[in-house]
Amino acid sequence: MSDSQPPDQPQNAGPSKSELKKLAKAAEKEKRAAEKAAKQQELAAQQKAEADIDCAANLYGALPLNQSQSRPRRPRDKIADLSSRVGEIVVLRARVQTSRAQGNKMVFLNLRQTTDTVQALLTVTPEKVSKQMVKWTASLADESIILVEGNVTRVQEPIKSASVSDVEIHVHQIHLISGIDGRLPFSVEDAARPDTDLETSDVQYNRVLLETRLNNRVVDLRTQTSQAIFKIQSAIGDLFREYLSSQGFIEIHSPKLQGAATESGASVFKVGYFKGNAYLAQSPQLAKQMAIAADFERVYEIGPVFRAEDSNTHRHLTEFIGLDLEMTIEEHYHEVLEVLDSLFLRIFRGLREKYSKEIAVVQKQFPADEFKWREGPEGTLRLNFHEAVDILVEDGVPREDLDDFSTENEKRLGRLIKVKYDTDYYIIDKFPIALRPFYTMRDSEDPTLSNSYDFFMRGEEILSGAQRIHDPAILCEAMRSKGVDPDSMKPYVDGFRMGCNPHGGGGIGLERVAMLFLKLNNIRRASLFPRDPKRLEP
Ligand code: ATP
Repeated sequence: MSDSQPPDQPQNAGPSKSELKKLAKAAEKEKRAAEKAAKQQELAAQQKAEADIDCAANLYGALPLNQSQSRPRRPRDKIADLSSRVGEIVVLRARVQTSRAQGNKMVFLNLRQTTDTVQALLTVTPEKVSKQMVKWTASLADESIILVEGNVTRVQEPIKSASVSDVEIHVHQIHLISGIDGRLPFSVEDAARPDTDLETSDVQYNRVLLETRLNNRVVDLRTQTSQAIFKIQSAIGDLFREYLSSQGFIEIHSPKLQGAATESGASVFKVGYFKGNAYLAQSPQLAKQMAIAADFERVYEIGPVFRAEDSNTHRHLTEFIGLDLEMTIEEHYHEVLEVLDSLFLRIFRGLREKYSKEIAVVQKQFPADEFKWREGPEGTLRLNFHEAVDILVEDGVPREDLDDFSTENEKRLGRLIKVKYDTDYYIIDKFPIALRPFYTMRDSEDPTLSNSYDFFMRGEEILSGAQRIHDPAILCEAMRSKGVDPDSMKPYVDGFRMGCNPHGGGGIGLERVAMLFLKLNNIRRASLFPRDPKRLEP
């Protein structure tokens, strides 16, 4: 045993009863304090959550699928009209061309409807526009279709990126109608950029090649440029129709399926037709002449024309829209030529008067000198074929190369005529008979020439026409001389055997007129879904 302490009296005997009481009290106090703190924390969290409840929850978001479930008949507005709506609340459907968030409190949108764009913006505003609403808007994919409501507000500085540049929309409601599934092949902004921007800018822009555009034509057609091109194309058709109707023409619809390969067999598409074959019409030529033989007097047609030519050029399609006309003549084929000339002048004037906005939109992407034609007493420039040849010879082209005009010489002539006569539009008359189809009437004095003409825009052919042979014997002879058996086209020849008025006409390529008026440099840009030897889709 040690001598230190007795075993029944340990030195550390633990807290006394009173000390234990004190300790218990302290523990209790601590517990209550912790409980209070927890409650306070809970309360703070609850208050925060309440503060976060979105005051604008109903003012944005995806709309339910439109199944035509309701029709409130609320008027919708057009971006093009917004300059005159300052101070008003507008509702409009548009695409989000681009969006740009500034911090988490503001987002700018560039909204687009066809050729018109306007800036819109959302700013966090108590009770009206929440942070969540701005965040959601900023997350919208480019090209989404939205429905917005907002105030039209005048801006101090013009907004350069928008076509309607003097106002912007302060948005207070925004809903998604249709979103984007996947990725766009290219942005509509990139597709609308002029080549000059790509060449001169320091910014590295994406170049969208024609092939990529045509493969994804729906996106390419959304550019303001394409929208304007097709408004102009439609206007050319309208003006053609309007003018000819005012001159007593009626519209006809000739069949595109034919039983025989007419005119020139080489350039005709053959298609299966039940147990045999049919051929796609390479022009309404025969039908419109037969309509004249049937006393229709003046006819026109707007319809597809098929050419099985393996021409991979900037100006040939395998399917294009033909604007065709045919009319009887009283005395001279120049009556037809004059109607055609007045028709073109009506089209050019109509485009300049009513479509200057669209022309300006196209020029932003495809800069071009304005299309020029001669007005007034001097009228349209008209040259005979031999005079046109002389102009080229004077410029150094060997005469022996000029039995016909190659595309290159045609363009060269256009440039020379522009310098000499200051016009982009002219007529060449009196082509050698050897260059024209069998149904062309010969000149009465010089049998090597014909009563035929071509019209040109910017040095490229847009119309071919002539007086036609209405005498069956001469027609059969002309057919044989060009290797066509008259019996293979008996119903056509029979039309003349039963008596037919002297007549003439012409055929115009719609896409070529649009391409050359706007100087688009490639016919595919003026064709909705172009067809060429290498393209049948989309
Ligand atoms: P080109 O010599 O330019 O090939 P073409 O002499 O064969 O034309 P026509 O048969 O006289 O032309 O057709 C009348 C018009 O139809 C032409 O002036 C042109 O505007 C248009 N056209 C002809 N072929 C085509 C084509 N392949 N693609 C688009 N347009 C065409």
